[in-house]
Amino acid sequence: MKKIYIETYGCQMNEYDSEIVKTVLKKSNYELIDSLDDADVVLLNTCSVRDNANRKVYGRIHRIKHQRNGRGMKIGVLGCMATNFRKKLLENPSLPIDFIAGPDSYKRLPELIEGLDNEGKDHFDVTLSEFETYADVYPTSREKGVNAWIAVMRGCNNFCTFCVVPYTRGRERSRAPENVKEEVEWLASEGFRQVTLLGQNVNSYNYEGRDFAYLLEMVSRVDGIERIRFTAPHPKDFPRRLLQVIAAHPKVCNQVHLPLQAGNDRILDMMNRTYTQKEYLLLVDEIREINPEMVLTTDIIVGFPTETDAEFGDTVRMMEEVEFDSAFIFKYSERPQTVAARKFPDDVPEAEKTERIVRLNEIQREHSLKRNRAHIGEVHEVLIDEENTKKSDEHFKGRNDGNKIVIFSKGNYRQGQFVDVKISDATPNVLRGEVERVLEK
Ligand code: SF4
Repeated sequence: MKKIYIETYGCQMNEYDSEIVKTVLKKSNYELIDSLDDADVVLLNTCSVRDNANRKVYGRIHRIKHQRNGRGMKIGVLGCMATNFRKKLLENPSLPIDFIAGPDSYKRLPELIEGLDNEGKDHFDVTLSEFETYADVYPTSREKGVNAWIAVMRGCNNFCTFCVVPYTRGRERSRAPENVKEEVEWLASEGFRQVTLLGQNVNSYNYEGRDFAYLLEMVSRVDGIERIRFTAPHPKDFPRRLLQVIAAHPKVCNQVHLPLQAGNDRILDMMNRTYTQKEYLLLVDEIREINPEMVLTTDIIVGFPTETDAEFGDTVRMMEEVEFDSAFIFKYSERPQTVAARKFPDDVPEAEKTERIVRLNEIQREHSLKRNRAHIGEVHEVLIDEENTKKSDEHFKGRNDGNKIVIFSKGNYRQGQFVDVKISDATPNVLRGEVERVLEK
Protein backbone atom coordinates (compact mmCIF):
# COMPACT_ATOMS: atom_id res chain seq x y z
CA MET A 1 0.00 0.00 0.00
CA LYS A 2 1.57 3.31 -1.09
CA LYS A 3 1.72 6.09 1.49
CA ILE A 4 0.60 9.50 0.25
CA TYR A 5 1.27 12.88 1.81
CA ILE A 6 -0.56 15.96 0.50
CA GLU A 7 0.14 19.67 1.02
CA THR A 8 -2.35 22.34 0.00
CA TYR A 9 -1.68 25.93 -1.10
CA GLY A 10 -4.07 28.76 -1.96
CA CYS A 11 -7.79 29.13 -1.67
CA GLN A 12 -10.62 27.23 0.00
CA MET A 13 -11.45 25.56 -3.30
CA ASN A 14 -8.00 23.96 -3.18
CA GLU A 15 -8.58 22.82 0.41
CA TYR A 16 -11.84 21.27 -0.74
CA ASP A 17 -10.16 19.68 -3.76
CA SER A 18 -7.50 18.14 -1.53
CA GLU A 19 -10.31 16.43 0.38
CA ILE A 20 -11.65 15.11 -2.93
CA VAL A 21 -8.18 13.84 -3.81
CA LYS A 22 -7.91 12.07 -0.44
CA THR A 23 -11.31 10.44 -0.94
CA VAL A 24 -10.38 9.25 -4.45
CA LEU A 25 -7.08 7.82 -3.21
CA LYS A 26 -8.57 6.15 -0.14
CA LYS A 27 -11.09 4.40 -2.37
CA SER A 28 -8.14 3.03 -4.34
CA ASN A 29 -6.53 1.75 -1.12
CA TYR A 30 -3.76 4.29 -0.73
CA GLU A 31 -2.80 5.27 2.78
CA LEU A 32 -2.95 8.99 3.56
CA ILE A 33 -0.31 10.10 6.06
CA ASP A 34 0.42 13.34 7.94
CA SER A 35 4.15 13.55 7.44
CA LEU A 36 6.43 13.81 4.46
CA ASP A 37 9.07 11.60 6.09
CA ASP A 38 7.51 8.22 5.33
CA ALA A 39 5.72 9.16 2.12
CA ASP A 40 6.07 7.19 -1.11
CA VAL A 41 4.26 9.94 -2.99
CA VAL A 42 4.06 13.66 -2.14
CA LEU A 43 1.26 15.67 -3.71
CA LEU A 44 1.39 19.47 -3.81
CA ASN A 45 -2.00 21.00 -4.54
CA THR A 46 -0.98 24.39 -5.90
CA CYS A 47 -2.31 27.87 -6.52
CA SER A 48 -1.51 30.20 -9.41
CA VAL A 49 -3.43 33.29 -8.45
CA ARG A 50 -0.41 35.27 -7.27
CA ASP A 51 3.27 35.06 -8.08
CA ASN A 52 4.33 34.52 -4.47
CA ALA A 53 2.06 31.43 -4.31
CA ASN A 54 4.00 29.99 -7.26
CA ARG A 55 7.36 30.88 -5.75
CA LYS A 56 6.41 29.15 -2.51
CA VAL A 57 5.70 25.92 -4.38
CA TYR A 58 8.94 26.03 -6.41
CA GLY A 59 10.86 26.56 -3.15
CA ARG A 60 9.03 23.67 -1.54
CA ILE A 61 9.79 21.32 -4.46
CA HIS A 62 13.51 22.11 -4.16
CA ARG A 63 13.45 21.42 -0.42
CA ILE A 64 11.64 18.11 -0.94
CA LYS A 65 14.22 17.23 -3.62
CA HIS A 66 16.96 17.30 -0.95
CA GLN A 67 14.85 15.32 1.48
CA ARG A 68 14.11 12.58 -1.01
CA ASN A 69 17.69 12.07 -2.15
CA GLY A 70 18.42 8.37 -2.15
CA ARG A 71 14.76 7.44 -1.62
CA GLY A 72 12.16 6.54 -4.17
CA MET A 73 9.70 9.24 -3.11
CA LYS A 74 7.72 10.60 -6.07
CA ILE A 75 6.43 14.17 -6.40
CA GLY A 76 3.15 15.10 -8.06
CA VAL A 77 1.91 18.63 -8.71
CA LEU A 78 -1.86 19.22 -8.70
CA GLY A 79 -4.10 22.26 -9.03
CA CYS A 80 -3.79 25.52 -10.91
CA MET A 81 0.00 25.51 -11.40
CA ALA A 82 -0.33 22.09 -13.00
CA THR A 83 -2.62 23.48 -15.69
CA ASN A 84 -0.84 26.80 -16.00
CA PHE A 85 2.77 25.62 -16.12
CA ARG A 86 2.63 22.00 -17.29
CA LYS A 87 5.51 22.31 -19.76
CA LYS A 88 7.70 24.37 -17.46
CA LEU A 89 7.13 21.96 -14.57
CA LEU A 90 7.81 18.77 -16.50
CA GLU A 91 10.63 19.98 -18.70
CA ASN A 92 12.72 21.82 -16.11
CA PRO A 93 15.52 19.39 -15.18
CA SER A 94 16.09 21.07 -11.82
CA LEU A 95 12.48 20.32 -10.78
CA PRO A 96 12.15 16.65 -9.85
CA ILE A 97 8.45 16.35 -10.71
CA ASP A 98 7.19 12.91 -11.60
CA PHE A 99 3.60 13.63 -12.62
CA ILE A 100 1.05 16.40 -12.74
CA ALA A 101 -2.76 16.49 -12.61
CA GLY A 102 -5.04 19.49 -13.24
CA PRO A 103 -8.16 20.28 -11.18
CA ASP A 104 -10.45 18.20 -13.40
CA SER A 105 -8.23 15.08 -13.47
CA TYR A 106 -8.22 13.91 -9.87
CA LYS A 107 -10.17 10.74 -10.59
CA ARG A 108 -7.24 9.69 -12.78
CA LEU A 109 -4.71 10.09 -9.97
CA PRO A 110 -4.44 6.38 -9.09
CA GLU A 111 -3.72 5.69 -12.76
CA LEU A 112 -1.12 8.48 -12.94
CA ILE A 113 0.57 7.29 -9.76
CA GLU A 114 0.66 3.68 -10.92
CA GLY A 115 1.88 4.83 -14.33
CA LEU A 116 5.07 5.86 -12.57
CA ASP A 117 5.95 2.24 -12.21
CA ASN A 118 5.30 1.51 -15.89
CA GLU A 119 7.50 3.35 -18.33
CA GLY A 120 5.89 4.69 -21.48
CA LYS A 121 2.68 6.00 -19.91
CA ASP A 122 1.66 9.66 -19.82
CA HIS A 123 2.61 11.24 -16.54
CA PHE A 124 0.30 14.18 -16.79
CA ASP A 125 -3.35 15.01 -17.29
CA VAL A 126 -4.38 18.64 -17.33
CA THR A 127 -7.47 18.24 -19.51
CA LEU A 128 -10.15 20.74 -18.58
CA SER A 129 -13.62 19.24 -18.50
CA GLU A 130 -16.93 20.86 -19.35
CA PHE A 131 -18.73 18.44 -17.05
CA GLU A 132 -16.60 17.30 -14.11
CA THR A 133 -18.07 18.52 -10.81
CA TYR A 134 -17.00 15.58 -8.58
CA ALA A 135 -20.69 15.32 -7.65
CA ASP A 136 -20.13 11.64 -6.93
CA VAL A 137 -17.16 12.17 -4.59
CA TYR A 138 -18.14 13.44 -1.14
CA PRO A 139 -15.03 14.39 0.81
CA THR A 140 -15.12 12.05 3.80
CA SER A 141 -12.13 13.22 5.80
CA ARG A 142 -12.99 16.87 6.42
CA GLU A 143 -11.46 18.35 9.54
CA LYS A 144 -14.07 18.36 12.31
CA GLY A 145 -15.37 21.77 13.28
CA VAL A 146 -18.45 23.92 12.89
CA ASN A 147 -18.10 24.85 9.23
CA ALA A 148 -17.86 22.62 6.16
CA TRP A 149 -16.91 23.93 2.73
CA ILE A 150 -18.79 22.47 -0.20
CA ALA A 151 -18.17 23.20 -3.88
CA VAL A 152 -21.44 23.75 -5.74
CA MET A 153 -19.99 24.91 -9.04
CA ARG A 154 -16.58 24.93 -10.66
CA GLY A 155 -14.81 27.08 -13.26
CA CYS A 156 -15.49 30.60 -14.45
CA ASN A 157 -16.69 32.20 -17.69
CA ASN A 158 -15.90 35.79 -16.79
CA PHE A 159 -12.35 36.21 -18.04
CA CYS A 160 -11.39 39.15 -15.87
CA THR A 161 -8.22 40.18 -17.65
CA PHE A 162 -5.97 39.81 -14.58
CA CYS A 163 -7.15 36.33 -13.60
CA VAL A 164 -5.88 32.86 -14.52
CA VAL A 165 -8.87 30.93 -13.17
CA PRO A 166 -10.77 30.50 -16.48
CA TYR A 167 -7.55 29.04 -17.97
CA THR A 168 -6.61 26.83 -15.03
CA ARG A 169 -10.07 25.65 -14.00
CA GLY A 170 -12.08 25.86 -17.20
CA ARG A 171 -15.68 26.79 -17.91
CA GLU A 172 -18.51 27.08 -15.39
CA ARG A 173 -20.49 23.98 -14.49
CA SER A 174 -22.85 23.42 -11.56
CA ARG A 175 -23.82 20.42 -9.48
CA ALA A 176 -27.48 19.40 -9.34
CA PRO A 177 -29.23 21.07 -6.37
CA GLU A 178 -30.49 17.70 -5.13
CA ASN A 179 -26.92 16.42 -5.08
CA VAL A 180 -25.72 19.47 -3.11
CA LYS A 181 -28.61 19.07 -0.66
CA GLU A 182 -27.77 15.42 -0.15
CA GLU A 183 -24.18 16.29 0.77
CA VAL A 184 -25.37 19.08 3.10
CA GLU A 185 -27.73 16.60 4.83
CA TRP A 186 -24.81 14.27 5.30
CA LEU A 187 -22.71 17.15 6.71
CA ALA A 188 -25.51 17.94 9.19
CA SER A 189 -25.53 14.31 10.29
CA GLU A 190 -21.75 14.58 10.83
CA GLY A 191 -22.35 17.47 13.29
CA PHE A 192 -21.49 20.51 11.16
CA ARG A 193 -23.58 23.59 12.01
CA GLN A 194 -22.62 25.78 9.06
CA VAL A 195 -21.91 25.23 5.39
CA THR A 196 -20.08 27.59 3.05
CA LEU A 197 -21.05 27.08 -0.58
CA LEU A 198 -18.02 27.45 -2.81
CA GLY A 199 -17.51 28.33 -6.43
CA GLN A 200 -15.16 30.49 -8.48
CA ASN A 201 -18.20 32.57 -9.40
CA VAL A 202 -20.62 31.01 -6.96
CA ASN A 203 -23.66 33.21 -7.60
CA SER A 204 -23.67 32.41 -11.31
CA TYR A 205 -24.61 28.87 -10.19
CA ASN A 206 -27.18 27.49 -12.60
CA TYR A 207 -28.28 23.92 -13.01
CA GLU A 208 -30.83 23.47 -15.80
CA GLY A 209 -32.43 26.83 -15.05
CA ARG A 210 -32.33 26.51 -11.27
CA ASP A 211 -30.27 29.42 -10.02
CA PHE A 212 -28.31 30.33 -6.91
CA ALA A 213 -31.35 31.74 -5.09
CA TYR A 214 -33.10 28.40 -5.67
CA LEU A 215 -30.07 26.53 -4.30
CA LEU A 216 -29.87 28.73 -1.18
CA GLU A 217 -33.56 28.14 -0.45
CA MET A 218 -33.14 24.42 -0.92
CA VAL A 219 -30.07 24.19 1.33
CA SER A 220 -31.73 26.33 4.00
CA ARG A 221 -34.37 23.61 4.40
CA VAL A 222 -31.78 21.12 5.70
CA ASP A 223 -32.33 20.46 9.42
CA GLY A 224 -29.27 20.77 11.63
CA ILE A 225 -27.48 23.30 9.44
CA GLU A 226 -28.10 26.69 11.04
CA ARG A 227 -25.93 28.96 8.94
CA ILE A 228 -25.22 29.18 5.22
CA ARG A 229 -22.49 31.31 3.72
CA PHE A 230 -21.10 31.47 0.19
CA THR A 231 -17.98 32.59 -1.62
CA ALA A 232 -16.79 33.98 -4.05
CA PRO A 233 -19.50 35.95 -5.83
CA HIS A 234 -19.37 38.46 -8.69
CA PRO A 235 -21.32 41.74 -8.48
CA LYS A 236 -22.93 41.09 -11.87
CA ASP A 237 -24.84 38.06 -10.51
CA PHE A 238 -26.97 39.56 -7.76
CA PRO A 239 -30.51 39.75 -9.13
CA ARG A 240 -33.03 41.30 -6.70
CA ARG A 241 -34.57 37.91 -5.99
CA LEU A 242 -31.23 36.59 -4.72
CA LEU A 243 -30.82 39.61 -2.43
CA GLN A 244 -34.34 39.04 -1.13
CA VAL A 245 -33.64 35.35 -0.45
CA ILE A 246 -30.46 36.29 1.48
CA ALA A 247 -32.40 38.84 3.53
CA ALA A 248 -35.46 36.67 4.10
CA HIS A 249 -33.92 33.36 5.15
CA PRO A 250 -32.63 33.46 8.71
CA LYS A 251 -30.12 30.69 7.99
CA VAL A 252 -28.54 32.56 5.06
CA CYS A 253 -26.03 34.89 6.69
CA ASN A 254 -26.30 38.63 6.28
CA GLN A 255 -22.95 39.10 4.66
CA VAL A 256 -22.19 39.82 1.03
CA HIS A 257 -18.70 39.81 -0.40
CA LEU A 258 -18.74 42.22 -3.30
CA PRO A 259 -15.35 42.33 -5.05
CA LEU A 260 -14.93 45.90 -6.32
CA GLN A 261 -11.36 45.45 -7.69
CA ALA A 262 -11.15 49.10 -8.80
CA GLY A 263 -13.22 52.26 -8.54
CA ASN A 264 -12.46 53.80 -11.92
CA ASP A 265 -14.54 52.99 -15.00
CA ARG A 266 -11.62 52.88 -17.45
CA ILE A 267 -9.72 50.46 -15.21
CA LEU A 268 -12.86 48.37 -14.58
CA ASP A 269 -13.32 48.14 -18.33
CA MET A 270 -9.69 47.10 -18.85
CA MET A 271 -10.21 44.48 -16.15
CA ASN A 272 -13.35 43.27 -17.98
CA ARG A 273 -15.34 43.46 -14.76
CA THR A 274 -18.56 44.23 -16.71
CA TYR A 275 -19.89 46.86 -14.26
CA THR A 276 -19.26 50.56 -13.84
CA GLN A 277 -18.68 52.55 -10.69
CA LYS A 278 -22.29 53.77 -10.89
CA GLU A 279 -23.74 50.27 -11.33
CA TYR A 280 -21.73 48.98 -8.40
CA LEU A 281 -22.98 51.79 -6.16
CA LEU A 282 -26.57 51.13 -7.26
CA LEU A 283 -26.13 47.50 -6.23
CA VAL A 284 -24.78 48.56 -2.82
CA ASP A 285 -27.83 50.85 -2.41
CA GLU A 286 -30.17 48.03 -3.37
CA ILE A 287 -28.52 45.62 -0.93
CA ARG A 288 -28.77 48.16 1.90
CA GLU A 289 -32.34 49.06 0.99
CA ILE A 290 -33.35 45.39 1.27
CA ASN A 291 -31.27 44.85 4.42
CA PRO A 292 -29.59 47.86 6.06
CA GLU A 293 -27.70 45.50 8.40
CA MET A 294 -25.91 43.62 5.62
CA VAL A 295 -22.17 43.28 6.21
CA LEU A 296 -20.30 44.21 3.04
CA THR A 297 -16.75 43.10 2.30
CA THR A 298 -14.65 43.46 -0.83
CA ASP A 299 -11.45 42.76 -2.79
CA ILE A 300 -9.40 45.54 -4.36
CA ILE A 301 -6.40 45.49 -6.68
CA VAL A 302 -4.09 48.53 -6.66
CA GLY A 303 -1.67 49.38 -9.44
CA PHE A 304 -3.44 47.67 -12.34
CA PRO A 305 -1.53 48.56 -15.57
CA THR A 306 -1.80 52.25 -16.50
CA GLU A 307 -3.77 53.15 -13.33
CA THR A 308 -3.03 56.83 -12.71
CA ASP A 309 -3.09 58.64 -9.39
CA ALA A 310 -6.38 60.25 -10.33
CA GLU A 311 -7.90 56.88 -11.23
CA PHE A 312 -6.68 55.42 -7.97
CA GLY A 313 -8.43 58.39 -6.35
CA ASP A 314 -11.72 56.98 -7.69
CA THR A 315 -11.07 53.75 -5.76
CA VAL A 316 -10.45 55.82 -2.63
CA ARG A 317 -13.72 57.69 -3.20
CA MET A 318 -15.63 54.41 -3.71
CA MET A 319 -14.23 53.07 -0.46
CA GLU A 320 -15.23 56.26 1.35
CA GLU A 321 -18.69 56.09 -0.13
CA VAL A 322 -19.43 52.41 0.56
CA GLU A 323 -17.53 52.03 3.87
CA PHE A 324 -16.94 48.29 3.67
CA ASP A 325 -16.80 46.24 6.85
CA SER A 326 -13.54 44.72 5.67
CA ALA A 327 -11.46 44.47 2.52
CA PHE A 328 -8.73 42.29 1.04
CA ILE A 329 -6.39 44.66 -0.78
CA PHE A 330 -3.70 43.40 -3.14
CA LYS A 331 -1.03 44.83 -5.39
CA TYR A 332 -1.53 43.92 -9.05
CA SER A 333 0.53 40.82 -9.84
CA GLU A 334 0.92 39.92 -13.51
CA ARG A 335 -0.09 36.32 -14.20
CA PRO A 336 1.20 34.52 -17.29
CA GLN A 337 -1.45 33.54 -19.85
CA THR A 338 -3.88 36.26 -18.83
CA VAL A 339 -5.15 38.93 -21.22
CA ALA A 340 -3.61 41.62 -19.01
CA ALA A 341 -0.19 39.96 -19.22
CA ARG A 342 -0.43 39.83 -23.02
CA LYS A 343 -1.87 43.29 -23.62
CA PHE A 344 -0.98 45.62 -20.76
CA PRO A 345 2.58 46.19 -19.53
CA ASP A 346 2.80 46.04 -15.72
CA ASP A 347 3.88 49.70 -15.66
CA VAL A 348 2.87 51.04 -12.24
CA PRO A 349 6.11 51.28 -10.23
CA GLU A 350 6.34 48.97 -7.21
CA ALA A 351 6.83 51.95 -4.85
CA GLU A 352 3.62 53.47 -6.18
CA LYS A 353 1.72 50.22 -5.65
CA THR A 354 3.06 50.08 -2.09
CA GLU A 355 1.97 53.66 -1.39
CA ARG A 356 -1.52 52.89 -2.71
CA ILE A 357 -1.97 49.69 -0.75
CA VAL A 358 -0.79 51.37 2.47
CA ARG A 359 -3.27 54.20 1.91
CA LEU A 360 -6.21 51.86 1.28
CA ASN A 361 -5.32 49.68 4.26
CA GLU A 362 -5.33 52.79 6.49
CA ILE A 363 -8.73 53.84 5.16
CA GLN A 364 -10.10 50.35 5.61
CA ARG A 365 -8.83 50.15 9.19
CA GLU A 366 -10.72 53.34 10.01
CA HIS A 367 -13.91 52.05 8.38
CA SER A 368 -13.66 48.63 10.01
CA LEU A 369 -13.17 50.26 13.41
CA LYS A 370 -16.07 52.65 12.86
CA ARG A 371 -18.42 49.91 11.70
CA ASN A 372 -17.37 47.53 14.46
CA ARG A 373 -17.74 50.20 17.16
CA ALA A 374 -21.28 50.82 15.94
CA HIS A 375 -22.12 47.33 17.29
CA ILE A 376 -21.21 48.22 20.87
CA GLY A 377 -24.28 47.74 23.07
CA GLU A 378 -25.94 45.31 20.61
CA VAL A 379 -26.57 41.63 21.31
CA HIS A 380 -25.22 39.31 18.60
CA GLU A 381 -25.96 35.66 18.01
CA VAL A 382 -22.58 33.95 17.91
CA LEU A 383 -21.65 30.46 16.74
CA ILE A 384 -18.71 29.25 18.86
CA ASP A 385 -15.95 27.95 16.62
CA GLU A 386 -12.98 27.75 18.98
CA GLU A 387 -12.78 26.99 22.66
CA ASN A 388 -9.83 29.35 23.09
CA THR A 389 -8.23 32.13 21.10
CA LYS A 390 -4.71 32.49 19.72
CA LYS A 391 -3.88 34.88 22.55
CA SER A 392 -5.71 33.40 25.51
CA ASP A 393 -7.17 30.16 26.73
CA GLU A 394 -9.44 32.19 29.00
CA HIS A 395 -11.51 33.27 26.01
CA PHE A 396 -13.69 31.58 23.42
CA LYS A 397 -13.98 32.70 19.82
CA GLY A 398 -16.98 32.66 17.54
CA ARG A 399 -18.53 34.52 14.63
CA ASN A 400 -21.67 36.54 14.36
CA ASP A 401 -24.08 36.36 11.46
CA GLY A 402 -22.04 38.93 9.51
CA ASN A 403 -18.93 36.71 9.89
CA LYS A 404 -17.24 39.12 12.31
CA ILE A 405 -15.01 37.53 14.95
CA VAL A 406 -16.44 37.81 18.46
CA ILE A 407 -14.31 37.13 21.57
CA PHE A 408 -15.88 36.46 24.96
CA SER A 409 -14.96 34.91 28.31
CA LYS A 410 -14.69 31.18 28.61
CA GLY A 411 -17.72 29.52 30.21
CA ASN A 412 -19.93 26.51 30.38
CA TYR A 413 -20.50 26.24 26.64
CA ARG A 414 -18.78 24.46 23.80
CA GLN A 415 -17.78 24.59 20.15
CA GLY A 416 -20.82 24.38 17.86
CA GLN A 417 -23.22 26.04 20.32
CA PHE A 418 -24.95 29.35 19.69
CA VAL A 419 -24.77 32.07 22.35
CA ASP A 420 -26.08 35.62 22.60
CA VAL A 421 -23.16 37.97 23.24
CA LYS A 422 -23.57 41.58 24.35
CA ILE A 423 -20.88 43.57 22.53
CA SER A 424 -18.90 45.91 24.79
CA ASP A 425 -15.76 46.72 22.81
CA ALA A 426 -14.41 46.62 19.27
CA THR A 427 -11.18 46.86 17.29
CA PRO A 428 -10.91 46.93 13.48
CA ASN A 429 -10.66 43.13 13.50
CA VAL A 430 -12.76 41.82 16.38
CA LEU A 431 -15.76 42.45 18.59
CA ARG A 432 -15.58 41.70 22.31
CA GLY A 433 -18.36 41.05 24.78
CA GLU A 434 -19.91 38.73 27.32
CA VAL A 435 -22.40 35.91 26.90
CA GLU A 436 -25.95 36.74 27.96
CA ARG A 437 -27.46 33.32 27.31
CA VAL A 438 -26.94 30.03 25.55
CA LEU A 439 -29.35 29.43 22.68
CA GLU A 440 -31.16 26.15 22.02
CA LYS A 441 -30.38 25.33 18.41
S1 SF4 B 1 -14.87 36.26 -11.71
FE1 SF4 B 1 -13.25 35.72 -10.26
S2 SF4 B 1 -12.51 33.71 -10.90
FE2 SF4 B 1 -13.70 34.52 -12.62
S3 SF4 B 1 -12.17 35.52 -13.94
FE3 SF4 B 1 -12.98 37.12 -12.57
S4 SF4 B 1 -11.58 37.15 -10.79
FE4 SF4 B 1 -11.20 35.21 -11.92
